Amino acid sequence: MSAQILDGRALSKKIKAELKEDIAAFAEEYGVTPTLAVLQVGDDSAVAGYARAIGKNCKSVGVAFRPEVMSGDATQEEVAARLDELNQDPEVHGIMILDPLPEGIDDGALILALNPRKDVDGVHPTNAGRLSQQRPPYFVPATPLGGMRLLEEAGIEFKGKQAVMVGRSDIVGKPMALLLLHQHCTVTIAHSRTVDLPGVCRTADILCVGVGRPEMVKGDWIKPGAVVIDFGTTYTADGLKGDVDQEGAREVAGIFSPVPGGAGPVTNAMLMSNVLAAAKLAVAG
Ligand code: NAP
Repeated sequence: MSAQILDGRALSKKIKAELKEDIAAFAEEYGVTPTLAVLQVGDDSAVAGYARAIGKNCKSVGVAFRPEVMSGDATQEEVAARLDELNQDPEVHGIMILDPLPEGIDDGALILALNPRKDVDGVHPTNAGRLSQQRPPYFVPATPLGGMRLLEEAGIEFKGKQAVMVGRSDIVGKPMALLLLHQHCTVTIAHSRTVDLPGVCRTADILCVGVGRPEMVKGDWIKPGAVVIDFGTTYTADGLKGDVDQEGAREVAGIFSPVPGGAGPVTNAMLMSNVLAAAKLAVAG
């Protein structure tokens, strides 16, 4: 058996082409260009690279990109003050705070200070709570949104399926588990203290993995014919690796979203979709 491979690059291209048109139409109608501000503190090269990639992503669909780079010795008060300016600025629709922040900067306090209506990363508790209770408007982190979009495009039937989400972070695991639950899957969330993780994974009709341990999930952890979405991204000496052993998954799974080329590109498209949604929220008042 050889799994059907989900092509995240092609899906991302399609979503972005539609978004580009929607953003142009929105700008024409309201005279407003959806704008994303990205707050970066310090000069960590990985963070700077991520900021550049976001800038390119914005450009590709017509979103205005506002890099806000602060010195690595900025104090908590200074960073909070800059964030507050962005919160108040009517020309900024979406705000992202890039991790990791320098030591001494309290990430949690900044997230709480973020305007939930500009929280395109979906990390503010208001958005997490609204997602949990399905009370719009709310922002869902782009990665799980991308995972769901991949599954939907593949025509996956969710109702009554056993889904396992390995990983329970606020940005990947928990929101993905909720989205699957809202589609009427029976959801198990697994994590570092889960007993018999391979056995738990083998129960899954839909297996999603967001851990950050390259090729942790082996072929014999996968139920034959299952749908497998790999969210993992780890840069190794052998290049970018996901959390799922590709060879094993290709042999055993029915449908497989690999790394690279699966969830990552769709995540980029969904982030831009969130920025447009934030701009729409702003003009709606
Ligand atoms: P994170 O905050 O570090 O969370 C990792 C999760 O994996 C935690 O819940 C942790 O469990 C669990 N875990 C760690 N070791 C484990 C083990 N041996 N067995 C089972 N579970 C284990 O990471 P994250 O931000 O969610 O990111 C996860 C992965 O997704 C990373 O590779 C990241 O780069 C990638 N990612 C991809 C995208 C994308 O665009 N595709 C976006 C965001 C993140 P505990 O809670 O028990 O510690």
